[in-house]
Amino acid sequence: MNTTKQAALVTGANKGIGFETARQLAQLGFTVWLGCRDQERGESAAKELAGDGDVRFVSLDVTDAESVRAAAVRIGDETGALDVLVNNAGVAVGEGEGLPSTVRPETIQQTLDVNFYGALRVTQAFLPLLQKAQAGRIVNVSTTLGSITTLVSPGNPLGQIPAFAYPASKTLLNALTGWLAVELKGTPIKINSVCPGANATDMNPNPGTQHPSEGAKVVVRAATLPADGPTGSFFDVNGPVGW
Ligand code: NAP
Repeated sequence: MNTTKQAALVTGANKGIGFETARQLAQLGFTVWLGCRDQERGESAAKELAGDGDVRFVSLDVTDAESVRAAAVRIGDETGALDVLVNNAGVAVGEGEGLPSTVRPETIQQTLDVNFYGALRVTQAFLPLLQKAQAGRIVNVSTTLGSITTLVSPGNPLGQIPAFAYPASKTLLNALTGWLAVELKGTPIKINSVCPGANATDMNPNPGTQHPSEGAKVVVRAATLPADGPTGSFFDVNGPVGW
């Protein structure tokens, strides 16, 4: 068991923002676990990041409670505690997505299973390991699309985007952030939601978006907050975001 280095788990780390977050945490000296649902993609990502530090693949499908449990056992056995948990794994289910009047309920269920229940499953399973760390940090990778404050502010175009399932899944993820921060008040653990901005990834192939290494910087900032940093907050690169 390695008890000297700090350990981090990033879910959905085989590509995109999760991959870049893992790289940056490894460069900071963390032992980084890449939680990936596909063994080949996970092992290949770990190989690619080997030059950045101590990076290890662990099989983890956030929709599968047994897979999450097994990953917690393995990480507990190998690194003893978990200093950082990044709930990054996410999906935007295209089929059946739409405004609240037309979205397919099944699309909402599929989206929630990864973006909300996935993060909840992983957080519950890893909380005992975070409690063993000196000052655990949980980062929920969210989006300003999930901000109800933004949605209802006059003139905001957010409500015209023909999608309800994805934004609402992140609204619920933000609820987890707030509720768990209150539950963990008085402990050294901090939990925050961050919006990484618009990043060029498979999920967001729109032109004009930044490289995911930029989005990862916001995630890493929340993962490495000092003792006097915020908890129960939602922020992006520019500062606090309204819930
Ligand atoms: P991405 O490139 O599509 O990466 C998503 C990652 O999540 C992949 O590694 C994927 O694995 C993994 N994943 C999906 N379902 C999973 C499951 N059941 N178990 C484990 N891993 C799973 O997307 P991204 O843009 O980097 O998104 C990362 C996070 O940032 C998401 O939570 C997203 O909502 C959020 N975000 C992104 C943007 C943006 O502009 N890109 C903006 C705001 C927020 P596979 O390769 O196996 O599918």
